[in-house]
Order: sequence, then C-alpha cells, then structure tokens
Amino acid sequence: MSDSVSNTTFSDRNSDTSTLINPTLVLNCGSSSIKYALISEDESTRITGLAENLGLDTARIKHTTLNGEKLEIAIPGGRHELALQKILALLEQYHFIAVGHRVVHGGREYSKAVRVDAHVLEEVKRLKILAPLHNPANALGIEAVQALYPDIPQVVVFDTAFHQTMPPVAYRYPIPKALYEDEKIRRYGFHGTSHAYVSERASELTDTTGPHGWLTAHLGNGCSATAIYDGKSMDTSMGLTPLEGLMMGTRSGDVDPGLHIHLKRLLGLSLEEINDMLNNDSGLLGISGLSNDLRTIEQAANEGHKDAQLAIEMFCYRAGKYLASLSCALPEFTGIVFTGGIGENSSTTRARILEVMRHFGIKFNQDKNQSLYGGGEGSFHNEDSSIELWVIPTDEECQIAKETRQTLGLS
Ligand code: ADP
Repeated sequence: MSDSVSNTTFSDRNSDTSTLINPTLVLNCGSSSIKYALISEDESTRITGLAENLGLDTARIKHTTLNGEKLEIAIPGGRHELALQKILALLEQYHFIAVGHRVVHGGREYSKAVRVDAHVLEEVKRLKILAPLHNPANALGIEAVQALYPDIPQVVVFDTAFHQTMPPVAYRYPIPKALYEDEKIRRYGFHGTSHAYVSERASELTDTTGPHGWLTAHLGNGCSATAIYDGKSMDTSMGLTPLEGLMMGTRSGDVDPGLHIHLKRLLGLSLEEINDMLNNDSGLLGISGLSNDLRTIEQAANEGHKDAQLAIEMFCYRAGKYLASLSCALPEFTGIVFTGGIGENSSTTRARILEVMRHFGIKFNQDKNQSLYGGGEGSFHNEDSSIELWVIPTDEECQIAKETRQTLGLS
C-alpha cells in the first residue's frame, strides 16, 4: 500500500502516534467525496481529511496531519476505490481499532447503529432504493475496509436511525395505507447524528433540569429541523427524502405536491428533470440567482441586490414557520439549538428566524448573539426569555465515533 502514497513524506512527519490512543476511523463516503476523521478514544485528538471531485481527473485528497500540516494528494482517474486505498494508507500507522461509517438510509429496519456483517452490508445495498446516490457509495467504503483490514470491526451509523422514535402521527403521509405497508412510503428524516449530538450537548450545558424539549435547527447546505423530547426525535422536517422541509442551499424544501404534474403539463418536463430542478437549482440559489452560499448572498443583499434580499427573507421565514410548527411535537419547550454552517455562523440569520417567531416570548441579547460564530458554543437568550437559545457547533464525526465504540462495547 505504501507505494500509492510514495510521493509524500507524511509517515515521517506524522510519526508521533502517542496522542492518538485507540483511535476510531470515521468514514463518510459520498457519491463524489469521502470525508474522514481519525478520533482518539478520549475524543481529544483527531486527524481529518477530505477526498473531493471523485469521478473526475481533478480528484484529490486534502489531508490535515496530527500537527496541523496540510497535504494534497492527487487521485489519478478519480476512482473511489483508489481514494479509499490512499486514505487508509495515510492512516494505517495509527492502528485504528474500529471503523464507523455514516450511512444515509437505514429504512425502517435500523433504529440504532449496528455492527457490520454480511447481512447488514446486503441491507445497506438493498436500501439504495431509498437513497440511490448515497447508500451504494457507503457500501463501497465498507467493502474497501473489509478487503484491506478484514479483522477490524466496522459499524454503520444511519442518518435516519435517530428519527425512528417518531410516532406514526409524525412519520405517516396522509396517502393510501398500502403505500406504507407494502412500499415503506413514510417520513424517515435525516441529519440524525447532528440532531442527536447537538441536543445531547444542549442537555449537558443547560442549567434547566430535564426532561428537555429542544428544537434543533441544522442549517447548512442541507437544512433540517427536529423536535426532540427527552433525547428522542418526535418529528423532523425532512421526510422520505432529504428534499422535504426547509428551504436549503440548492433544494427547494416543501412545494405543492401538485407542482410536478403542473410543470409536466405546462412545460413538458420529465419527472427526472423536475426532481433535478428541485434538488439542484432551487433554494437559496434558485431565488437569488447568484449562489447557494449564504455568504455570497448576504454580501449581495447588503449591496442592494433585491433577489438576494428575498432569498434571505424566504429562508428565514420558512425556517421560523417550520420551527413554530415543530414546537407542537414537544410536551415542553426548553429551547432552540442552532447548528450547521449557517446556524453556527450567521447571527443575522438567527435573529431573523427568531423575529419570525415573534409570538413565542423569545428575548435575546444581540451582542451575545453576534459573539457566537466560528466554532463558538454558548447561549444568547435573556433571563426573562420564554425559551433558551443555543449555538452548538455540530460534530457528526465525534457522534459516529462514540456510537461506533458503544456498539462494539469499547466504551
Ligand atoms: P454542508 O451542509 O455542506 O455540511 P455547512 O454546514 O458547511 O454545509 O454550511 C454551509 C453554509 O454555511 C453555506 O451557505 C455558507 O455560506 C454558510 N456559512 C458558513 N460560514 C458562514 C458565515 N460566516 N456567515 C454566513 N454563512 C456562513
């Protein structure tokens, strides 16, 4: 394996393995990227990296070493298997004891993380019917590790599993019941590891005694909100697919289900074309006509760009409206937790969303709100606020490593 990384000298630079004790490797294998993190048993130290542009000749690994040094490694041909081989070769010297995989869809079958065996691997592949872009790439990652390290235990942590506690009133669609019973058409929800992590963290940080009722707003390129009571997901904004719910970077979120037939009749568009448009050309990008990146849109809005201003207003209005409706799923409402690239960094977006929820008696300190960005964790509500407000940077890798160790009885 070492020849696949022979142009670099990282094994020399990275020879200090003492601080990475019993690490778990976390792999998030997507259709065009692989994110990875090697996390020590006590979660204090990690090595991270990203293989991007997979499938293209420009594919490369961006790796950050234990001492913070950044390396770039080309992946000629851009094949997933080669990228994984190179990543594993980079990390081999740290003797990881387990591998945890983020898997997007666990269907109805999986309500928690599970150790990989032949049956589980087959299930991950079979569930591609529910996640055609993601589950096959996730399975590839499992097989690559199996081929190179057959003795290292692997665990799959499903994005959907956390939401399996939702009651039928939240997860069923009001459509003929045979579609649920025979075809598993129901709401599943996604971003489960992120919602689980930030709600657990909020319950650790708050002075309020439990059980707690949190609304977690994960606002990144993908956006979802979840109502969590006493550690259990009660309802969430994403559904059968990650397209339902909030307005996102390029995804529309909720639209009239009659839109598809209307566009077919009006413009002769195929279902695939409409699906592509709703997933890739809509959301912040579709309304602003500029970008899916909120920073670009905020800058244009400040310069008077009308469509950018509307994109931000719609994003916040739809998020606030969704949070207000999700509060119905909570027996008690302790507070809102903001996370994801937007939720963690944009104090103006947080303030606008809270303005939309103006009938809830929420009171916050604008200076504190503005001080929370760039990885800062903290609260910004006033003492007399009806609910608490928190910014908690998400850490899906840490959550996956933790669930992997728990599933294997290592912690
Ligand atoms: P992903 O869902 O791909 O993991 P992220 O959670 O990284 O995405 O979030 C990306 C979004 O966060 C982008 O819209 C980006 O503009 C936004 N973002 C990141 N930093 C800031 C910031 N300082 N101010 C406003 N938006 C930000």
